[in-house]
Amino acid sequence: MAATYDAIVIGGGHNGLVAAAYLARSGAKTVVLEGRHKTGGAATTEAVWQDAPEFKVTRLSYVMSLLPPTIISELELDRHGYKIYPMGPYYQAFPEGGSIKLYADDAKRNHEAVSKWSKKDADAMPKWDAWLAGLADVLGPLLLTVPPVIGSRKPRDLAATLKLAWRNRGLDVRTIADVTRLMTMSIADLLDDWFESPQVKGALAVNGVIGTWAGPYEPGTAYVMAHHSIGDVGDGHLGNWGFQEGGMGAVANAIERAARENSAEIRINAPVARVLVEGAKATGVVLANGDEIRAKVVVSTLHPKTTFLDMVGRENLPDAFVTDIERWKSRSGVVKINLALAELPDFTGDPGTDLQEHHTGSVEMAPTMEYIERAFQDARDGKPAERPFSDGVIPTAFDKTLSPEGTHIMSLFTQWVPSDWNTEPHTAELEAYADRMIDCYNELAPNFKGSILHRDIVGPYQMEHEYGLIGGNIFHGELSLEQLFHMRPAPGFADYRTPVGGLYYGSSATHAGGGVCGIPGWQAANAAIADRKSAVRKAFRRS
Ligand SMILES: Cc1cc2nc3c(=O)[nH]c(=O)nc-3n(C[C@H](O)[C@H](O)[C@H](O)COP(=O)(O)OP(=O)(O)OC[C@H]3O[C@@H](n4cnc5c(N)ncnc54)[C@H](O)[C@@H]3O)c2cc1C
Repeated sequence: MAATYDAIVIGGGHNGLVAAAYLARSGAKTVVLEGRHKTGGAATTEAVWQDAPEFKVTRLSYVMSLLPPTIISELELDRHGYKIYPMGPYYQAFPEGGSIKLYADDAKRNHEAVSKWSKKDADAMPKWDAWLAGLADVLGPLLLTVPPVIGSRKPRDLAATLKLAWRNRGLDVRTIADVTRLMTMSIADLLDDWFESPQVKGALAVNGVIGTWAGPYEPGTAYVMAHHSIGDVGDGHLGNWGFQEGGMGAVANAIERAARENSAEIRINAPVARVLVEGAKATGVVLANGDEIRAKVVVSTLHPKTTFLDMVGRENLPDAFVTDIERWKSRSGVVKINLALAELPDFTGDPGTDLQEHHTGSVEMAPTMEYIERAFQDARDGKPAERPFSDGVIPTAFDKTLSPEGTHIMSLFTQWVPSDWNTEPHTAELEAYADRMIDCYNELAPNFKGSILHRDIVGPYQMEHEYGLIGGNIFHGELSLEQLFHMRPAPGFADYRTPVGGLYYGSSATHAGGGVCGIPGWQAANAAIADRKSAVRKAFRRS
């Protein structure tokens, strides 16, 4: 006899856990099936050095910003261990001397800091912040909106499109123009319009290329910047990011506790092989060990290619949908480097190994836009970046749970290696790439290299094979224009439903993903709960 539930969630990443928490909260008997030995997916804290288990790294994702207050409060995540330390400033030290700090929440200090490089840019900064805040007012609510099926003539879809247009009726010509610019421009062109100093532009370009298979001169990178700039960590400061105490795995743990409290069952080491489809409806799953589990609702939070092409099967899907998923772009060229440090970096521009403000935020290796572009061009030419770009953070500036007293963890989110490095481990080349990355930081902080106790390098192959991040893309799919909103993951299916009845889709490859925001999982659960209620109402009317 197959085990039976009301709802099965495939994947115990943070989105799967959010979906399970909401489904269980609605009264559905729910099980999460996670393939690995632990939940969290890309939100994971791990002790990666066997000989030094006292060090823990936030192995893939590293900072929080995008999780909406609704999810935090409805799942009571604070009570379950969600605790954020807001980050300090963006910090970039320069090989030629000096440094820049940018503050998410302090206009006065921003002005002072930027004035050192350009008075004109310092004066432009408050206007830029206000411009971004205006755009966040438009784009923020869209993150929580279910994309309509644009182009459909079905009354329900037309009504949804009209509702969205009506909600945005207050937008004026200039705001629409600004949104258009944001969606279509490169971050380089956009910053050129606003600023003159290479140092300021380098610092502001970082958010435009995070996780993206595109350098700062590629159209669409302005939107990527916005995606990373419209959240806040609950302190009311737009674009602010923060460190979860205990690393990003603790975010997943908090959501898991909420799910369990609502009676969801969580099974680890339970890889799913197939979704059972009977009469165009999902009826359950088959595990890799052959066990069958049945349910009328199945929610997948895995990569779209895995979910639809491998688990559902082309034969159960419309041809056009199969083509869309086959064409889904999932490159990034990201390498995560996690380090255990004996002491903090001692920057020539801001000396000292005692904890200072510049250790508490992003410790960047993005001195100019040209530097970032060069790193991308290397990878596009088929070789790993000679001088990689890095978004570095030192969570232990606040969080004392990750490493022994006096030591630190540093997390380097680096780019780029060639986009096809997901097909081979490239172990030796990744070691050499990490050496070069470390040398770049060592030029700014000469104690850096000597302070490294342990290092852990996670490249695209490992991301794909160990974590299910196909192509090594950090968001289950690029945030390129043709893969956003009503196109994410495929036109006609951006409402968290799929061509298969009873199968819902809530991974980062849906609208509002990626990032540790929980919105895809929440929306997929909402869709399933709404359909379940509507089916009950219809059955009641028929009886
Ligand atoms: C290096 C890196 C850095 C990042 N940095 C940040 C950041 O700082 N902040 C941020 O907000 N976002 C960041 N992201 C993005 C963010 O982590 C992801 O978008 C998000 O965690 C994905 O969540 P998910 O639940 O949709 O999918 P996943 O986390 O990928 O979860 C899917 C789960 O499914 C499981 N699975 C796979 N195959 C099977 C199977 N056959 N059966 C059962 N289970 C299976 C996987 O093990 C995994 O647990 C980063 C990502 C990476 C990779």
